[in-house]
Amino acid sequence: MIQPAAPLSPPSRILLGPGPSDVPPSILAALGKPTVGHLDPTFLAAMDETRDMLRAVFATENELTFPMSGTGSAGMETCFVNLIEPGDRVLIGSAGVFGTRMAEVARRAGAEVTVVEGEWGRALDPERLLAAGQGGAFKLLAAVHAETSTGVLQDPRELRRVADELDALLVLDCVTSVGGVAVELDAWKVDAAYSGTQKCLACPPGLSPVTFSKRAVEALSARSTPVQSWYLDLSMIRNYWGSERAYHHTAPINMLYGLHEALRLVLVEGLAARHARHRTNAAALWAGLEALGLELLVPAAERLVPLTTVSVPDGIDEKKVRAHLLREYSLEIGGGLGPLAGRVWRIGLMGSGSKRANVELCLAALRSALAEQGYTADNDPLAAAAGVYAAD
Ligand SMILES: *Cc1c(COP(=O)(O)O)cnc(C)c1O
Repeated sequence: MIQPAAPLSPPSRILLGPGPSDVPPSILAALGKPTVGHLDPTFLAAMDETRDMLRAVFATENELTFPMSGTGSAGMETCFVNLIEPGDRVLIGSAGVFGTRMAEVARRAGAEVTVVEGEWGRALDPERLLAAGQGGAFKLLAAVHAETSTGVLQDPRELRRVADELDALLVLDCVTSVGGVAVELDAWKVDAAYSGTQKCLACPPGLSPVTFSKRAVEALSARSTPVQSWYLDLSMIRNYWGSERAYHHTAPINMLYGLHEALRLVLVEGLAARHARHRTNAAALWAGLEALGLELLVPAAERLVPLTTVSVPDGIDEKKVRAHLLREYSLEIGGGLGPLAGRVWRIGLMGSGSKRANVELCLAALRSALAEQGYTADNDPLAAAAGVYAAD
């Protein structure tokens, strides 16, 4: 007989990495509310409210809008498996881990994939996408709005222009943008988009909101082959989220309570105010990092507000810095991925984690961790950050 483990007592960290981000108490409390049946009338009402709030946060009127069960990657997979039939041609702009993942998911769904590789740390060049796509009979163009592995924001209007020229559907990864920077899916004419709960929505990981435009739903209806994944097949799942309430799989009831509360908090704050808050705190962080003599990987015009990539100075052991932050400050930031491994730190100011106290703590903690390795800066990062708040 094995001894039962002791109850868990996880520490209260300050999560300033690439996600998950800090979860506000009211969302944690929502997760602990009584579980009801997946057809309980109170739950059906909560589903409808969740859909309405999701549409507001995505700035869309798309009928097909709801959270998929699973993390952000499930949303990515949902878009590709529902829109792709074997042999379909797909164009992907990729300059980071999540663009690379899109290409892999599309290939596994049976697509013939053409990837336009961009430099990691820079936005994609729409002219290169267009040149690669012309005459290629591509069914869809896909790219990442907020590339969390590099800290780059891509302009969806440019992607739409390319997709229009190619007469292709546009699929957009909004995992790290929703709730942190403006997302305007209808204005941008995005055909399919997905997000995740644990980045700027400040919920634990576990759901992936998706939305399909009319044109994307038509493409789904026009399929001649069944969707390859039974679990992610929107033609069935939409009948549970629609008026039929047809059972497909058991909805993760309590996770949906959490998302409901997270979306409520976003709308109570107001989208514009929330985006402005993210911007101000990021600007203060950037000023402080520069005062520390650190270089930001991404040029200001392409820089993503909720996630900042910072180059590791020569001679600094970046893992030791992160270990110092965790040990001395209970503060988590991220390391680099792929070609950026060992070369950058990734600092997330997402959702409720985007606040002045976190900016100041992060700057002070970094200064102390760097000093431990003999690195000193001439300027005071906290004064630089304070200057940004004073000017705000
Ligand atoms: C985090 C992330 C994902 C994947 O989400 P998971 O919840 O880890 O499955 C996809 N795209 C981007 C841009 C992300 O930041």
